[in-house]
Amino acid sequence: MDKTKEIVMSGIRPTGFLHLGNYFGAIRNYVKMQDEYECFFMVADLHSLTTHPDTKELKANVYRVLAENIACGLDPDKVALYCQSHLHETAELYLYLNMLAYKGELEKTATFKDKARMQPGNINAGLLTYPVLQTADILLHRAKYVPVGKDQEQHLEMARNFTNRFNHRYGEVFPEPVAFNYSNDLVKVPSLDGEGKMSKSENQMATLYLADDDELIRKKVMKAKTDSGPTENNSPKPAYIGNIFLLMNLVSSKDVIKKYEDDYNNCNIRYGDMKKQLAEDMVKFISPIREKVNSILQDEKYLQKVMGQGAEKARKSAEVTIKLVREAIGLNYF
Ligand code: ADP
Repeated sequence: MDKTKEIVMSGIRPTGFLHLGNYFGAIRNYVKMQDEYECFFMVADLHSLTTHPDTKELKANVYRVLAENIACGLDPDKVALYCQSHLHETAELYLYLNMLAYKGELEKTATFKDKARMQPGNINAGLLTYPVLQTADILLHRAKYVPVGKDQEQHLEMARNFTNRFNHRYGEVFPEPVAFNYSNDLVKVPSLDGEGKMSKSENQMATLYLADDDELIRKKVMKAKTDSGPTENNSPKPAYIGNIFLLMNLVSSKDVIKKYEDDYNNCNIRYGDMKKQLAEDMVKFISPIREKVNSILQDEKYLQKVMGQGAEKARKSAEVTIKLVREAIGLNYF
């Protein structure tokens, strides 16, 4: 481990196909960070059990998330790319941190309330303590930066609270983790229907997946909600139109974006043309990644090697942390 580099940690749940939100909220930052920082990136398989107890597709999803991360440019020789369940130390740290997390604050978490609403028959304790497990993942490597999308802001705030409580009670073991994005603000990639964010499991026709074929990408983009256009120059954009511009900003050239911004401000925008352009730019962006994913997925042995070497690197760092934690808590009797 390079002691001069600051430490970065993040993860993605293997609950389905990765989408543009995962790419622009998380993976794009991972890829940029891998040269500057000591990076730990994991497939969060344990987290997925809180919402996806049926594990029939888990293995295929784990392989896919690994392949998708690599296809987007993550280099398994530069970072530790591993599977959460391969580090038993995670469970130990999770247990200690659970003693520092209060029921009241966990119940108030927005994601807990959302998920409880979505799965009223399975409001399990793991769902409630999801932010604690996430904190364990981060602190296991004593990470400082956590590249995530905007939806994770509250979880990171909770992670800082748990970290400070630990440090206060047992001594300074951990740096305070902060959410990270290269631009100043965390990213939220909106869904194409203008309602909420792109997501792995909800809203699939309004989410662009890295696995979507060209025709499906075109179909989804063309279905995005528009209207007859502004009637006054320089009017504010309704949210669903703002979203289309936001998506264009992610994948289109500066000239193209400027043309449509000007057209909008001069009230002569043609949304049909704009969506066609956006669809083609999306196809250009997504299709090379999709092809790469498909070719990486052919080689299971390679992905197993990646997981193995990732776990080995991650375990080294986890073992050091657990030793420090036990000493700090006072669990050292010999
Ligand atoms: P999902 O919500 O799609 O299941 P995860 O919970 O596994 O995704 O999140 C993986 C990473 O992707 C996190 O850093 C999360 O903040 C980011 N992310 C997910 N959806 C979006 C989105 N629509 N916009 C920006 N970032 C997102």
